Amino acid sequence: MHQLNADLHCHSTVSDGTLSPEQLAQRAKGNGVALWALTDHDEVAGQHRAAAAARAAGIDYLAGVEISVSFGGHTIHIVGLGIDPDDAALRTGLADTRRGRDRRARAIGDSLAAAGVDGALEGAQALAGNPEMVTRTHFARWLVDTGVCRDLHDVFRQYLVRGKPGYVPQQWATLRDAVGWIAGAGGIAVIAHPARYKVTANEESALFDEFTSYGGRAVEVQTASHGDADVAKYSALARRHGLLASRGSDFHAPGESRVELGALPALPGGLTPVWSELHTRIVRAA
Ligand code: AMP
Ligand code: MN
Ligand code: MN
Ligand code: MN
Repeated sequence: MHQLNADLHCHSTVSDGTLSPEQLAQRAKGNGVALWALTDHDEVAGQHRAAAAARAAGIDYLAGVEISVSFGGHTIHIVGLGIDPDDAALRTGLADTRRGRDRRARAIGDSLAAAGVDGALEGAQALAGNPEMVTRTHFARWLVDTGVCRDLHDVFRQYLVRGKPGYVPQQWATLRDAVGWIAGAGGIAVIAHPARYKVTANEESALFDEFTSYGGRAVEVQTASHGDADVAKYSALARRHGLLASRGSDFHAPGESRVELGALPALPGGLTPVWSELHTRIVRAA
């Protein structure tokens, strides 16, 4: 159960990945993934394609999503696993969450222009596979493609983050709504990559308390942005709060993502994998 090669977090062209759901299914298969979930940001439009491609490739599949949430002035990501992608309340909630992106993208373009970088909006839009999902990743790739920055790491140090050109605050979904949409669609809500948030210890403890009070049940322990100390910290936290543990590469693009699809270490022992509670939600391989 622990040794199962599950990869339950990645992105396609439906959000800010560069591979299609079908290409990701092939890549997952090639990398030995046995249970896969595509978790595009704020959008489930790729879910039926991903499930069909996984089935054809002979791997088990869980429908997924990664919802952008505003929590105490911070942006937090909540992954939903085993959801029904056709659930009406989930779809409406995600459409509402996506709605502000267009205005935000314009404001990011204006802010970059004011800093002397022209044409970013059109550049980012041209790179986006889904016109409703122009993300900071698309701006970042354009800034690299045009030679303004060396790589994505360089972009997110100089641009698009608080206090830098191209930063535009955004009101996303509430934590209560995001957890509620996921649970209402039959899924399990997971706090994504918890070590990435620049929160204080008190804020983090409030996040976990509120998350569980709304029905959230799991936390990502193994993910690309977690070092050994982070894995140990969130393993302990999962045990203390009685949370299930998840594992996902957060793969976005070949040559860009640090961790390849399906290439993370196994979950540490003593944790209950989130998939142990999702048997009835798995789309079985053909
Ligand atoms: P958005 O939802 O438009 O704010 O875009 C957020 C996306 O930007 C994340 O999902 C990541 O893919 C990407 N991102 C944010 N920070 C970084 C970073 N430091 N390095 C690489 N990608 C990042
Ligand atoms: Mn992303
Ligand atoms: Mn994320
Ligand atoms: Mn992600």
